[in-house]
Amino acid sequence: MHDSSPSGSRGQGRVILETPHHPIDRAAIDPDALKIMDRLDKQGFLACLVGGAVRDLMLGRKPKDFDIATDARPGQIKKRFANAYVIGRRFRLVHVHFPGDKIIEVATFRRSVPKEEEEAHAAREAHGEAVEPIDPYGTPREDAFRRDITINALLYDAVLDAVIDYTGGLEDLERKRVRIIGDPETRFIEDPVRIWRVIRHAARLGFSIEESAEKAIRAQAALVAECAGARLYEELNKDLAGETRPVLERLRRYGILRHILGPLGRDYEADAALFARLLVLLERSERCGAKAVKSEHEDAYALLFYPWVERLFGRDDIDLGRVLSEEIHGLRCGATIPKLVRADAAQILAIAGAMVRGLRTGRMRWSLQKRAHYPKAEKLFFLVTEGALPGEGRSFETLFRRTFPRGGIGDRPRRRRTRRPRPAGA
Ligand code: ATP
Ligand code: MG
Repeated sequence: MHDSSPSGSRGQGRVILETPHHPIDRAAIDPDALKIMDRLDKQGFLACLVGGAVRDLMLGRKPKDFDIATDARPGQIKKRFANAYVIGRRFRLVHVHFPGDKIIEVATFRRSVPKEEEEAHAAREAHGEAVEPIDPYGTPREDAFRRDITINALLYDAVLDAVIDYTGGLEDLERKRVRIIGDPETRFIEDPVRIWRVIRHAARLGFSIEESAEKAIRAQAALVAECAGARLYEELNKDLAGETRPVLERLRRYGILRHILGPLGRDYEADAALFARLLVLLERSERCGAKAVKSEHEDAYALLFYPWVERLFGRDDIDLGRVLSEEIHGLRCGATIPKLVRADAAQILAIAGAMVRGLRTGRMRWSLQKRAHYPKAEKLFFLVTEGALPGEGRSFETLFRRTFPRGGIGDRPRRRRTRRPRPAGA
């Protein structure tokens, strides 16, 4: 397709789109990323923007981060930047730090090491041979082919202002299609998280999934359950951080939620009304600015659990805090949700539940106001009951008092205590 246009040149199995034949606006690229690539170029290295950033720039979306790949080795990269740190054990790469907690990742082009090579290497090592560590570095082409999907494998050479495509990603961008690089079944067996990634990118971009990948997803969905729990947790956090609804909807349709979230996922899959409730809450939280609602993991998880535990809020015969804690700590699921996140989410839900109950019964345990999670619970409560965050002068307490002008039942709302100034010198 592209070699027929004057804009694209094709050779050695790659397509190069030079300016003005690609839509990338340099002003949309982080100036520090440009500086890094420029400095590496001046030192004789090739350095390109890679991964999601190129994809997003091509689509006019704002990239989350700007990853750079280069033919310089980690030691060579580090030497050229004062604020650079080599990280990683299996594959070493460099983090270049900038003011304001900004980190730009600079990695050396690498290849995927075939399993047989890795096994042969391990066998020689086990025989006591003094073997060099496996060389995982590779060419830009190899680096492109090790990636998951074609639209994530484009390179942007900032010096030439050109997009380089080895895997057909440009065509897939145009056709709005997510396609696995290589054979889907093999790539999914290699790393089942790719199943999730294909679904995520298709859902976020509104792209279709290429047929053979779609088939493989249907056949191999259960592989997701075999991934390391920590990895699934990490992936889940990416989806809870934003653009959550379309991804969860598709994961549900493919029957993958159960592999990530255990009984919680199974219930969301089986019960359409329950899942619809979650979508409503997520929509509200996005409308209020996801950052404001889900500033930390526990907020996101409290929201994720809310529809699932809401049934308990209608029961006056239970110790809500204890039951919630048991339910949430007892949830066995694929993703390893850390104990602390579970505990915090349970606390938030227990207080939000007490508010729901309180407004229904006129009984409120105001001592809960002293809990650290009270403000988070209040936010969640307003999001659920009113679809908005508590604003100026609106709090659960004012709402409660308006509903029960004569005070309701329960301990008294906490008065802010004014401390007597200490005598000087005490
Ligand atoms: P996002 O916008 O969510 O950051 P991204 O495409 O940048 O999306 P990352 O998780 O940041 O995704 O990964 C960066 C790049 O690394 C991807 O674009 C892809 O090329 C590659 N990659 C990530 N995970 C895998 C994987 N499991 N297998 C192969 N390549 C991967
Ligand atoms: Mg990224």
